[in-house]
Formats: sequence, structure tokens, C-alpha cells
Amino acid sequence: MANEELRRQVVIIGSGPAGLTAAIYTARANLNPLLIDAPADTDRQTTPGGQLMITTDVENYPGFSKGIEGPELMMEFRRQAERFGTEFLEEWITKVELQSRPFTLHTENRIVKAETLIIASGASAKWLGVPGEAKTPKGFGGNGVSACATCDGPLPAFRNKRLVVVGGGDTAMEEATFLTRYASRVYVAHRRDKLRASKIMQDKALANEKIEFLWNTELAEILGTHELGVTGVRLRDTNSGAEKNFDCEGVFIAIGHKPNTELFKGQLDMDAVGYLKTNGHSTATNIPGVFACGDVQDSVYRQAITAAGTGCMSAIDAERFLDHLPVEMPSGEEITIEGEHITADRKLIIEPSGEVISNEAV
Ligand code: NAP
Repeated sequence: MANEELRRQVVIIGSGPAGLTAAIYTARANLNPLLIDAPADTDRQTTPGGQLMITTDVENYPGFSKGIEGPELMMEFRRQAERFGTEFLEEWITKVELQSRPFTLHTENRIVKAETLIIASGASAKWLGVPGEAKTPKGFGGNGVSACATCDGPLPAFRNKRLVVVGGGDTAMEEATFLTRYASRVYVAHRRDKLRASKIMQDKALANEKIEFLWNTELAEILGTHELGVTGVRLRDTNSGAEKNFDCEGVFIAIGHKPNTELFKGQLDMDAVGYLKTNGHSTATNIPGVFACGDVQDSVYRQAITAAGTGCMSAIDAERFLDHLPVEMPSGEEITIEGEHITADRKLIIEPSGEVISNEAV
């Protein structure tokens, strides 16, 4: 099997809502997509299907008036992609070469050549790495510890309970404010005495009577039992180093997300955190023929429905690209497949030779 070569018009990386929506659209367009995703691995925290696979009830995905379990929703996405002929490959990608088309992807056993590439590799919540944080049965992850308030906050286990949120950015403010709908009290533990969050989000959280801030405070350990779940935390004063136990029934880690973009470093344009840069009106990256959708390029909305929406956009962009139609690039210009450039106002076509041709009706 070593070095077997596969060649496809469309290769999609990632099987969350963005990747599977891109698969549904490109498969229906007869583009025979191949979707590659990492196998399930607890230590490397990968789950085919993405973050919804670790979510319980999804109540805000339109079309499911009674709500749906995250894993079930992703199975439906997958069945729909399969129905139109998407091929799936569960293998680690070790290297990508995007300098020339077709693009080359190396997995452990294969070489995959792609005319267009849709990157939907998602983002992962960052964790602190403290004792008690790991998934059950090793720790209390999924049993009182979560990294997603919108997913887990409304669960009975967190209702009318004392909850600790860790972090001082927009995510922490948003999660703490959201949790006040359910919790009896929310404590925000932040390692400094100043928040990183935007002023508007800070003001909202600071004005909320149900939120109390624990300044200069680090979370050292999550305490509990397997029967009861979380019963408290051990907190450390970052100035004095003094530690104390603090009673609570739930912990939300909200220290940010990390886009899964290691593979593309040095080849695709990214922001300071590592999110892939795309044009607001398209999913094009700086390399013609490479598109990005979902959480890997979105640090703001990060919802299943927005990921699915951008997945659809990237499929349409890839389709247009393969049809030699213009796709808008992050720079604002538009490109076509064979090296020609079409100006943003679509009035001129610049050929690879440099020759400029009018694109206006004569
Ligand atoms: P962030 O801005 O990077 O903030 C992370 C917070 O977690 C910081 O306060 C940081 O502390 C703390 N932190 C990081 N590592 C830590 C550790 N090991 N131990 C303890 N604390 C730690 O991340 P974010 O809040 O997820 O925001 C990311 C981006 O998304 C931002 O651009 C934000 O504006 C955007 N966002 C927007 C919205 C919205 O507009 N609705 C919502 C969420 C996020 P320090 O401050 O000490 O570094």
C-alpha cells in the first residue's frame, strides 16, 4: 500500500460541518471529492466529525425543532455526503506541498494529488493541562469540565450550580455571561488583574451581578469524585503563590482556540494566532485553488451553521475555479485557473505572458 497514488479534482481535509457540507456540494456537482480526516485519537484530541462529536444537545442548528445530539447531527451530514458519492479516507496527513498544481498531500500510506484543496481542519479548544481536566475516566472532562458553554451550559448538571470560568478574553466573557442564565453564580478566574477582552464584552460581564471576578488567580487542579463529578478547584494566587480550595460544581476552560493549521505553516497566509486568511467574499486563500472554510478560518462566529455555510461557499468556489471562472482572492483581485488574472472590476484579463485583454462587451 505504501506510496499508492490517488488523484482527485477536489480533496477536502476535515469532516466537521464545513468539510462535510463542502463534500455534499462537490459530490452533487459530480466532482468525486475525497475527504481526508485524522483517525480518532484521545491523546492528540482528534475526533472525526469535529467538535460536535464531543457535544451533547445541539438546540440551535436550524431544521431540528426538538434539538439533536451533536454526534447524530454529524452522522446525518456524513450519510448525506456518502449518498452523493464522497469517498472517505481516515489517515494522518504528514506533509502538504502547495507550490504547484496539482497539490500533493502525503499521508502515512499514500500520496494524494489534488486539483483543488478545501481545508476544513477546524480548531481545537485550548486546555490548561492541569490535573483533573482530562476526559473521564482519567479526569472530569465531560463530567463537570467543559470548554464550550454554548454546548454544555444548559445541561442539568450545570443548572443552579456554582461554576468557574477560566480566562480573561472575549471567549471567557462571553461564556461567563451566557452561563449566568443557568448557574447560581459564575466565578471568572483570570491570571492577571486586567482583562484581555474587548471593552464591550468586559463591560457586560463586569456589570453582571451573577459574575464575580477572581483576579490574579490560576487554576491549579480540578477536584471531585467519579460519582459526584466536580466538587471544587484548587486555586493559586499568581502574586503570592498561596493556594486554596474553592467549592464549585462545574469548570469551563475558556482560554481560546487553536486552529489546526500546523501543516500549512509557511505556505498559506495566516493571522497572528494561526487562522487561515480568506477573502470576506470568498473562501480563497493566497494560493489559487486552495480554499478554507469553517473554524480554521473563523475566529469570531465558530458555529456549526456558519461552518456549514462557509463549507458550501468553498465548494462553489472550487467548482468555479475548476470551471475557469473568476474567484475573488484575499488581495481583492480575481484569478482564473491558468494563470490569467481578471481585475476586480472584471474589465481586464491579464494573460500569463503579461498581455492585457479587454473583458468588456464590444
Ligand atoms: P484570547 O483573546 O487569546 O484570550 C485568551 C485568554 O485566556 C487571555 O485572557 C489569557 O490570559 C488566558 N489564557 C491563555 N492561556 C492561559 C493559561 N495557560 N492559563 C491561564 N489563562 C490563560 O482568546 P479568546 O478569548 O478565545 O479570543 C480569541 C479571538 O476571538 C479574539 O480576537 C476575540 O476578540 C475573538 N472572539 C470574539 C468574540 C465575539 O466578538 N463575540 C467571542 C469570542 C472570541 P492573558 O490575558 O493573561 O494572556
